[in-house]
Amino acid sequence: MTGRHRIQGIPVTDIAEQFGTPLYIYDGEELEHGYERIRSRLHPSVDILYSLKANPNLSVCSLLGGLGAGAEVSSAAELAVARAAGVSPADTIFLGPGKSEEEVATALTAGIHSLICESYGELDLINKIAGEMGITAPVALRVNPQSAAKGAGLRMGGKPRQFGIDEGILMADPGLTARFPSVRLMGVHAYLGTRILSSDVVAENTAQILDMAQRLTDRLQFPLETVDFGGGLGVAYFQGEEDLDVDALTGQLNPIVEAFRAQHPRTRVLMELGRFLTATAGLYVTRVRYVKESMGQHFAVTDGGTNHHMAAVGIGSFAKRNFPMSILNRAQEPTEQLWQVTGPLCTPNDTLGKNVALSEVRVGDLIGVHRSGAYGPTASPTRFLSHGYPAEVLVHRGTPLLVHERESVSDILSRQPVHHELATTRTNGG
Ligand SMILES: *Cc1c(COP(=O)(O)O)cnc(C)c1O
Repeated sequence: MTGRHRIQGIPVTDIAEQFGTPLYIYDGEELEHGYERIRSRLHPSVDILYSLKANPNLSVCSLLGGLGAGAEVSSAAELAVARAAGVSPADTIFLGPGKSEEEVATALTAGIHSLICESYGELDLINKIAGEMGITAPVALRVNPQSAAKGAGLRMGGKPRQFGIDEGILMADPGLTARFPSVRLMGVHAYLGTRILSSDVVAENTAQILDMAQRLTDRLQFPLETVDFGGGLGVAYFQGEEDLDVDALTGQLNPIVEAFRAQHPRTRVLMELGRFLTATAGLYVTRVRYVKESMGQHFAVTDGGTNHHMAAVGIGSFAKRNFPMSILNRAQEPTEQLWQVTGPLCTPNDTLGKNVALSEVRVGDLIGVHRSGAYGPTASPTRFLSHGYPAEVLVHRGTPLLVHERESVSDILSRQPVHHELATTRTNGG
């Protein structure tokens, strides 16, 4: 077989043979290069936090943590993963609009860098819990700015949102700090959107957030120990999109940070990156079970679908746009037919790719969805039709490591207590 797709020199066909399909494969080398690509160019005073939401796999997090990334977590489990991955609590922040009492207490006990507070109700809760623990809680306010630059795939601020507290409300509340004595207000956070592919938009957002942080601290009178300007950097998935040019991006961003640092030499500056650090390192691998024709169209029915890769259905858009896809075992053959690549689910929505140009697909072929390292299985309905979570493999220094076991039928049954009385209520002739 010629033209087999390889990861670190290893044919993906071999990895699929060893671990079965469907499966996710992460390329440790690409994770490392992706991190270094931005780290080496970004202003040294900006600390990069890895947003676990994009890919909470423990080994992925360990690898990024080992390279120096901190962690941005949004649940007790993500916090536990970050800690198990060796990320220091001092480099961990906890955000999310619906934190539980238990999560707040756990984060405070762990001694994380800061809780990112999203509402007045949460300020009350943090103040109460910290008071009971006899500590003051380090808190940064997540702020929904009055306005935000357009150009994100999904906007998170500058309009009515469940995230953060409106800038206008905070500016009208100069007495805020005094009302929460067990809260040490120490920072400002804003995250304005995801899938941003324009360095102008990132730079404009950042400048606006840094200005806003200054306005808020002047008004509310707290020391600006930390400012987190979010991130939301995208990667190109679809036709017509282009990856961010990291040189151009940091060329615009660094002077803005530099000017801010001149005014605030002791303020810790944070940036959160999820998709940008993981997307290009991931490959979703499915095996073709059947090929068929319907009304003149070619269908390749694979063993995995949107139950593992919901994002492939198309993000934030009604028109179906395809992720980059290819046949992995015959990578170099010319693409001459249009294929509907569909999964095993009983819904027409289970379409990984529509009219994908491929060579003639055969039963047993491996079809890969590239750039799938972010928002993959954990952002998908993995229990739909009870196929369960796929296996995940990380290729580290030339060795494929199993980093998440495939969920089995017994795994799925084991979470469901058996109530025998339910099956014995009806007797024949009774
Ligand atoms: C989702 C999220 C991120 C990560 O976003 P990416 O676009 O994957 O980088 C970072 N910060 C916050 C607050 C988020 O909600």
